[in-house]
Amino acid sequence: MLSIQKILVLVAILWIVWTIFKFFDRRNSNLKDTKKNIKCAECGNWIDGERCQNIDCQNS
Ligand SMILES: [Zn+2]
Repeated sequence: MLSIQKILVLVAILWIVWTIFKFFDRRNSNLKDTKKNIKCAECGNWIDGERCQNIDCQNS
């Protein structure tokens, strides 16, 4: 039989696990965001995607 105390402990553990999961999930998305903004090797411009937006750049 589950007592109320045991259920409360279980809920608390689930809440802690969920909070830790959310924390790591947010950290991963932040890392992805910084990865997306990379510097162009040719001109040094910040680019979002694969290609450089600078028209004068050799890398475009
Ligand atoms: Zn460039």
